Amino acid sequence: MGVAHDDTGVAVALSEGQSLRAEYLVGCDGGRSLVRKAAGLDFVGLDPSTSWMIAEVEMDEPDLGMRREGGGIGPVNRAEGGGPFRVVLTEGHSAHTSEPTLEDLSEALISAYGTDFGVRSPTWISRFTDMSRQAASYRHGRVLLAGDAPHVHPPQGGQGLNTGVQDAVNLGWKLAQVVNKTSPESLLDTYHAERHPVAARVLRNTMAQVALSSPDDRHQALRDTMSELLSMDERRKRFAAMLSGLDIHDDLGEGHPLLGRRMPDLDLVTANGPLRVVTLLHAARPVLLTLGEPGGVVTEDALVFERTSRSPMRAAFSCGNEYLDRYIRTQARQDQEKRAVGVYVLRHTPTDRIAGYYTLTASSIETQDLPEDVARSLPRYEVQGAILIGYLARDFQFRGAGIGEMLLRDALQRGLEMQQSGLRAVAVVVDAIDDAAATFYESYGLKPLTRNPMRLFMALETVAILPRSGE
Ligand SMILES: Cc1cc2nc3c(=O)[nH]c(=O)nc-3n(C[C@H](O)[C@H](O)[C@H](O)COP(=O)(O)OP(=O)(O)OC[C@H]3O[C@@H](n4cnc5c(N)ncnc54)[C@H](O)[C@@H]3O)c2cc1C
Repeated sequence: MGVAHDDTGVAVALSEGQSLRAEYLVGCDGGRSLVRKAAGLDFVGLDPSTSWMIAEVEMDEPDLGMRREGGGIGPVNRAEGGGPFRVVLTEGHSAHTSEPTLEDLSEALISAYGTDFGVRSPTWISRFTDMSRQAASYRHGRVLLAGDAPHVHPPQGGQGLNTGVQDAVNLGWKLAQVVNKTSPESLLDTYHAERHPVAARVLRNTMAQVALSSPDDRHQALRDTMSELLSMDERRKRFAAMLSGLDIHDDLGEGHPLLGRRMPDLDLVTANGPLRVVTLLHAARPVLLTLGEPGGVVTEDALVFERTSRSPMRAAFSCGNEYLDRYIRTQARQDQEKRAVGVYVLRHTPTDRIAGYYTLTASSIETQDLPEDVARSLPRYEVQGAILIGYLARDFQFRGAGIGEMLLRDALQRGLEMQQSGLRAVAVVVDAIDDAAATFYESYGLKPLTRNPMRLFMALETVAILPRSGE
C-alpha cells in the first residue's frame, strides 16, 4: 500500500492493485497503522519491556483473583461464577515472533501456579505488551490518524477505546466542516492540538501503572503509598476523572469555567418538564442550550400581558433585530404616553424579563388590496379602517416557548375588542419584517394583501370565530 498527497487530495494504492483518490485520508487502522507508516509520521516512545498473554478458556477449579505482578484468573460471568474463565498472565519477556498457542498458555500457568488447571477449549488467545508510543503529529497534510493508529499504550485502566472514540468525534465534525467548506482548513490543526496532549497523558499514567505492578518489595511499598494517597477524596476524584477522560479541558482561551470542558450532566427544568443534559446528546448532534435564570422556566402561568412595562429589564430585551430591540428599549414608553400607539408587553414574572411585545395602532387598508371574496362583504368604501400590529417581537432567551403565537393571538383578540368598543376597523394587519415572519403569520391564517405580500391581514370576522387560547 502507498499513500501520496498533494494540494488537492490523497491517492492511495491498495495491495490488490486498485487505487483510490479522496480529499482526505484518515488512518484508523490500529496500532500497527500502515497509513501512519506510509505517511512517514514518527511514532515516538518506548519499546515493550514485558508481554502479557490473555485468553478465554475452560479450566478445572482454578485459583481465582488478581496476582501480585498484575493479571490473574476470573470468571467471564462475574455474577454467576463458573467457567469459562478469563486469564491474564505476564510472560516476563516481550520478544515473540508467533501467535500464542494453548501450549504457551499451559506453560505460563504452570510457571505461575504450578499447574495449568486442565486448561482447554480456548475461545481465543491473544497477547499484548506495554509498548508506549505516540505519533509526533496526528496530521501530515491531508493524512490524519485516529484511534490506536496515533497512540499505543498498556491496556491498564481500559483507556484506549475511549481515547480513540473521542479522537474520532473530535476529528469527525471538523473534517465535515472543512470538506463542506464551512470552516477553513486550519480547523484541522486544532485536532492535533487538542487530542495529542490527551493521549500523552494516557501514555504517562499507563506507563506508571505498569511500573507500579512490578512484583518486588520496593514496588509493593510504592503501591501501598499510592493506595494511601488515593484514599483521599480530592486525589481519588482527580485520578478517576483522568482515567475516565472526564477531566479533558480543550484550551479555548479565556471565558466561562466550563469552556472547552465536558458539559456536566445537569438536571434541566424546561417548559416540557424536567430532563437531563445527556438525554439531549443521544442523537450525537450538536446541542445548543439557552439557559434562563434559575427558576425562570417559561410556563404560561409565569407570563403576564401588561401595557408598556416599567420593568427595568426592558433595556435587556434582545430579539436579534436591532430595529425591534431599539423600539422597546427607547421609544415604546414615549409612544404609549402620547397614546399614539398601544404597546403590550408579555412579562416573565420570575425573572422580570420581557419575553415579547407588540404594538397596535389605528390604520387603514385600501379595499382593492383585499382579495375579492373578502372585499365583497365589506362596506363599499375605497378605504377600510384596520388595526395595525406595528411591531411584534420575542426575546431570544424565550425561543421555543411559543411566545410568538401568544403575542399574535393576544394582538388579534385585542384588535377585536377595540372594534367591539367602537373603533371602525374590518381587519387586523401586520407588516412582516422578512420572509420568515411572513411565513409565521401565514401559518396562523393571516393572508397577504394582493399588491403587497409583506403586509398580511386577518378579517375581524375571522378573529371572532378563532378558538380562544386553552379552548
Ligand atoms: C488486552 C486489551 C484490553 C483492552 N481493554 C480495553 C478496555 O477495557 N477499554 C478500552 O477503552 N480499551 C481497551 N483496549 C484498547 C482497545 O482495544 C483499542 O484502543 C481499540 O480497539 C482501538 O480501536 P481502533 O479502531 O483504533 O483500532 P483496532 O481495533 O485495532 O482496529 C483497526 C482495524 O483496522 C484494520 N486494519 C489494520 N490494517 C489494515 C490494512 N492495512 N488494511 C485494511 N484494514 C486494516 C484491522 O483489521 C482492524 O479491524 C484493550 C486492548 C487490549 C490489547
